[in-house]
Amino acid sequence: MRYAIISDLHANLAAFRAVLDDITNRGGVEKIWCLGDIVGYGPEPGECIELLCQTNHISVAGNHDWGASGKIGINEFNPDAAEACQWTAQQLSPADTDYLKGLPPVIEEENFTLVHGSPREPIWEYLTSTGMAKENFAAFKTQFCLVGHSHVPLVFSRDENGTCSGKRFLPDVKLTLGKDRLIINPGSVGQPRDGNSQASYAIYDTETRVITLHRIPYDIRATQDRMVQLGLPMRLVARLSYGM
Ligand code: ZN
Repeated sequence: MRYAIISDLHANLAAFRAVLDDITNRGGVEKIWCLGDIVGYGPEPGECIELLCQTNHISVAGNHDWGASGKIGINEFNPDAAEACQWTAQQLSPADTDYLKGLPPVIEEENFTLVHGSPREPIWEYLTSTGMAKENFAAFKTQFCLVGHSHVPLVFSRDENGTCSGKRFLPDVKLTLGKDRLIINPGSVGQPRDGNSQASYAIYDTETRVITLHRIPYDIRATQDRMVQLGLPMRLVARLSYGM
């Protein structure tokens, strides 16, 4: 069985399409695991939901998914995110809104727990340090956990002695699952923030027990032009160029 692990699409259709094409070029997957924030920031929220729903997928809820669908308030969003969230809410069809509202905060599948933020704070916590990872290993029961939200590809591990460590998840390096417990972030499809502007996602092969991260170039200008046309905040347009 092969799974694609995607997160933080953020309504960036060009990036999402490039990732789906790349998955096809690599022989396809049986299922997509999505870690939330399908919408928010980007120009094509409805199109991204529609395209995701054409695939065999499961998805947890991100803060933007619940914010745009009105399931949570937007007080905790920063000004650009709040503006994009309100704009997104106006673009969604009733069916899109229902889909986003219905996304669960946590899913367990195979030996994995899927969340957007962190296992102890599925919607809001940015899991970015080894110290935070150490505390979060106590908050899920499966051996592995997949998170998004920070838009930075990372791998945290906890060995049998309880020692934790963290590292960047680098592209095309095989991450082989062994005895250690792991928390893995596949980076962001639609708004990378690790200084690399290419779309980020991972493929998990259950037969080889290997997860590999891939970075995919896409037509950044196409997304930016659309955002400018639609009057989305310029800071959100600019950040796609430098991946921050
Ligand atoms: Zn996000």
